[in-house]
Amino acid sequence: QWCDAAAGGEILLASPRSFCAGVERAIEIVERALERYGSPVYVRRQIVHNAHVVRRLESLGAVFVQEIAEIPAGATTVLAAHGVAPSVREAAVDRGLKVIDATCPLVTKVHNEVRRYRSRDDTVFLIGHADHEEVEGTFGEAPDHVVVVEDAAAAAQVRARDPERVAYVMQTTLAVDEADEIASVLRERFPAMSAPRRDDICYATTNRQRAVRAVAEHADLVLVVGSTNSSNSQRLVEVARRQGTRAYLVDDVSEVDLRWLAGARRIGITAGASAPPQLVEELTRCLGGLGRDRLRESQVADEDVQFTLPREVG
Ligand code: SF4
Repeated sequence: QWCDAAAGGEILLASPRSFCAGVERAIEIVERALERYGSPVYVRRQIVHNAHVVRRLESLGAVFVQEIAEIPAGATTVLAAHGVAPSVREAAVDRGLKVIDATCPLVTKVHNEVRRYRSRDDTVFLIGHADHEEVEGTFGEAPDHVVVVEDAAAAAQVRARDPERVAYVMQTTLAVDEADEIASVLRERFPAMSAPRRDDICYATTNRQRAVRAVAEHADLVLVVGSTNSSNSQRLVEVARRQGTRAYLVDDVSEVDLRWLAGARRIGITAGASAPPQLVEELTRCLGGLGRDRLRESQVADEDVQFTLPREVG
């Protein structure tokens, strides 16, 4: 549908993009906790992986820490959207913290799967990035049973205590194609392997990847709004590049290098699930001023997912 090119340059907006239901819920939890309990409200790790979101919540009175040990005893504490290992929850209880859990329900689902497989004494292959906070949390559910599998080469090597008793789960924000490839290597090696009833890669990750692919196909350049520590934003850059299109990750418009725009008449724009929509608006406004004055949106899916809030802030 992009074929009737405008005389000037244009912006191709990928949709869905930007905030998902889990991120909106996590941010609302911190905002409501601040309203209800007053500042400071402590948050373990970045509530979502976005520098702008963290800065705004800091300005409202949230205090971000790395570990539970840094939080004063008894303080109100929010656990971030990526989920935590049970040992972190236990440390919070030991410290007498008032804990509000902002773990995305779709991450909790993966934790529940690991617990179920562990109770059957399965070896659980966790497809994901070992250094990602979500994977740290999921791994922590059953460190004796979980083996992190980062790529297809690792999948070809991993061992299970009993090849008849194996299962796999996934990080929610992986590249869909890569994760499928890793799972199929495992499936071939372990035909008895149990799989999650529904995909672990979440709807938001899947939709944003489909949307950026549709846009990248017709764009000379793709700009992805998101922070460097945001896994799903990084994956959007990779998906666009796999289409053969130049793509860059920017935290906001100030990071756009004008040299990238040379010769780029059609610029695709998207944003990771943790990146605020207003950053996309700023970027499109700025590009509009630079001659990309036609805007088109390509919508590949409708999203109406909503999660309920925890009772402490509900
Ligand atoms: Fe939840 Fe998916 Fe959003 Fe992560 S990206 S917070 S799993 S909906």
